[in-house]
Amino acid sequence: MIKLHDLQFIPFITEDEIIVAIDKISEKLNKDFADKTPLFISVLNGAFMFTSEVIKRFNHDCEVTFVKLSSYQGTKTTHQVQQLIGLEENISDRDVIILEDIVDTGNTIEVLSNILKDKGCTTFKIATLFFKSEVYTKQINIDYLGIDIPNRFIVGYGLDYNGLGRNLTEVYQLKSNTMTNLVLFGPPGAGKGTQAEVLKQKYDLIHISTGDVFRYNIKNATDLGTLAKSYIDKGQLVPDEVTINMLNAEVDKNPDAKGFIFDGFPRTEDQADSLAKLLASKGSEVSAMVALEVEDEVLVQRLLERGKTSGRPDDADERIIRNRIKVYYNETAILKNYYQKQDKYFGVDGVGAIDEITERLSNTIDSL
Ligand code: AMP
Repeated sequence: MIKLHDLQFIPFITEDEIIVAIDKISEKLNKDFADKTPLFISVLNGAFMFTSEVIKRFNHDCEVTFVKLSSYQGTKTTHQVQQLIGLEENISDRDVIILEDIVDTGNTIEVLSNILKDKGCTTFKIATLFFKSEVYTKQINIDYLGIDIPNRFIVGYGLDYNGLGRNLTEVYQLKSNTMTNLVLFGPPGAGKGTQAEVLKQKYDLIHISTGDVFRYNIKNATDLGTLAKSYIDKGQLVPDEVTINMLNAEVDKNPDAKGFIFDGFPRTEDQADSLAKLLASKGSEVSAMVALEVEDEVLVQRLLERGKTSGRPDDADERIIRNRIKVYYNETAILKNYYQKQDKYFGVDGVGAIDEITERLSNTIDSL
């Protein structure tokens, strides 16, 4: 998360995704204008970074010029678009390509296209890095389109919030809600399920345990259950694609949630990335990973004990228990690093009485 002036922004579109979009647009421009000498008209200020990337990739003769228009004040679009710096070039018989950072309602594009027509330019193409198709109200065709985004206020890659944020190489969106999303972390038997039951009441959160959802599906002999069972019985991870789709569906069942406790998810980096994306689509993010730290031998004893009553085959066999713990260290523990890098990792001693541990977790959550 970053702060610009008074507002908080969370990651939204990665630099890699932006580069892919620019490569795609540039490839088409190179093809379509191979035997022409186009005039690129870049719309300042926001399009300077996009312009530079497109021009660097353009392999034929071309010219570049700049116009300055402004339609934003703060985070709201104003319907007054002013032209600040005019066009001096003769454009009546030119192949013109407008370069925009973002097209939302289309007001700016409309004004610009009228100016171009007044100056005798009848056909021109429009290339934009970002496009909000949801709110676009004009009939003017957008010829080269990078990334279609939902109607969010974004900064970065040339775009600003009251002057700041243009230098960010990734795109961030305004943090739009106050959800609390906890990743409850720790090896099998650390007490995640037990603590999640208490914390969900205390903080009014939705508890999603991927292990529980799998077991529910196994019990009801669904296709998902049948597929997952073969992995779970061996103490291995269910493949990411299956788990991620299931998790997304569980989250979507609770559109009005104040937040979630994710218990047993994410377990791999791909799962963590997909969780970030899912929450970003709601204007939110993972608030913290709270991890219960418990020694291996304590875990094995706890799980064997639980196995006497839980009815879970993966709790009954010490070899499978040890495999689950091994899988945790080999495949899942790296996520500690993943969230540490974002300053979101909080380790909590997971040995002691249940309510003592709840108190330790609550202290961490209350401090977020
Ligand atoms: P748990 O109840 O969290 O111990 O999960 C039981 C089993 O379900 C695990 O050993 C895995 O086989 C499977 N499982 C649960 N969550 C995930 C996940 N996020 N990714 C892959 N497999 C999972």
